[in-house]
Amino acid sequence: MNKIPFLNFQPMHEQIRSEMHQAFSDVYDSYWYIMGEKLQTFEASYAKYNQTKYCVGVSNGLDALILALQALNIGKGDEVIVPSNTYIASVIAITTVGATPVFVEPRIDTYNINPELIEQKITKRTKAIMPVHLYGQACEMDYIMKLAEAYDLYVVEDNAQAHGSSYNGKLTGSFGHANGVSFYPGKNLGALGDAGAVTTNKEEIAEKIKALRNYGSHKKYHNNYVGLNRRLDELQAALLSVKLQYLNDWTQERKEIAETYNEILVGSNLILPKLASNADHVYHLYVVRTSKREELQEHLNNKGVGTLIHYPIPPHLQKAYKYLGYKKGDFPIAEELANTSISLPLWVGLNTRQINSITSIINE
Ligand SMILES: *Cc1c(COP(=O)(O)O)cnc(C)c1O
Repeated sequence: MNKIPFLNFQPMHEQIRSEMHQAFSDVYDSYWYIMGEKLQTFEASYAKYNQTKYCVGVSNGLDALILALQALNIGKGDEVIVPSNTYIASVIAITTVGATPVFVEPRIDTYNINPELIEQKITKRTKAIMPVHLYGQACEMDYIMKLAEAYDLYVVEDNAQAHGSSYNGKLTGSFGHANGVSFYPGKNLGALGDAGAVTTNKEEIAEKIKALRNYGSHKKYHNNYVGLNRRLDELQAALLSVKLQYLNDWTQERKEIAETYNEILVGSNLILPKLASNADHVYHLYVVRTSKREELQEHLNNKGVGTLIHYPIPPHLQKAYKYLGYKKGDFPIAEELANTSISLPLWVGLNTRQINSITSIINE
C-alpha cells in the first residue's frame, strides 16, 4: 500500500522547480542578500494581495505578532484577548511583550473565538483583541471590529493560517491595526525556511515596524528604538514572490479537497468543520472531531495515512504557562477540542484516489 503522508511538498515544488531555481540564481548573482529589492518587491506584492496599504517582511510569524504588539505600545500591565484554543505562538507573542493573555473560548463548531463571549472579558486594562483565523477560517470580524471600536481597543489579527481568507468579502489580515502572518514552510504560502510579515493600513505602524525589525533604525547608524534583528532576507523574499503567483490556484485546490472530504464523510460519525455565515475558509488544515480520536489516528497510521493533532494541549494547560494559574476545566471547550480533534492530510497535489483511500480507511 502506498503511504499518504500528512504533508507532502513534492507536487507543489515540482510544479515550480525551474522558477524557484531561477529566483535562487538571481539572488545568488545579485551579491545583495539583506534588505534589498527582492524584499521590497515581495512586500509590495503581498500588500496588494492582502489588500492592505503596507506589508513589512520579518523573520517569522511569531516575530510578526511580537512586532505588531510592540508597534502599538502594548506591554506590561496590558491585557490582550485571545482564543483559548489557539496555537501557542499567539500567546507567546503576548507574554513576550510583557502583556497578559485573557482567554476567550471558541465556538465548538467553527473552532474560532466566540465573539459573544469577548465583552465580558474586557476590563480597563484591555488593550487589544487578537483574533486567530484558525485552520484557515476567518473569524467573525464584523462583531469583533464593532466591539473593538466601542471599547477603543486595538485588533491584532493572527493570520498565520489564513492567507487569502475573508469575512464578508474582506481579507483576513486587513481588518486589524497591525496583523501578523507566517510564511513557515507548511503554511498556505510558505518559504523554504522561516519568514513572516506584518500587514497594516497605517503608515506610522509600518514605519515603526520597519525600524523595529532592523535594530530600531530607519537610517543606518541612527537608532530611534531599541530594536532587534528580525529581517526577512532576500532569498526567502524572492522565493515567496514566485509562490505568491500560485497562491490563489493552490487555495482553490485546497477548497476542492476539503469539499471532497465533506461530501464523502458527511454520513460518517465524524464531526466535520463548520463555517460561520459570511466566513471563507482556505483550509490550511482539515480538522475533524471524534471521541475515538486515538483509535482513528492509530488505524490510519497502521494503514500508512499520516495525521496530526492541532493541538493536543491548550495554552492554559501548558507547563510554560503554569504561572498564569489556570487548571483543567477552566476552558472546557478548548479542552474538548484538544481531546477530540484530528487533522487529515490536505496538501496541493493530494489526488481524488488518495482522498478516496483515506476516507474508506476512516469509514472502516
Ligand atoms: C505558525 C503560526 C504562528 C507562528 O508562525 P511562525 O512563522 O512559525 O513563527 C503563529 N500563530 C499561528 C496560529 C500559527 O499557526
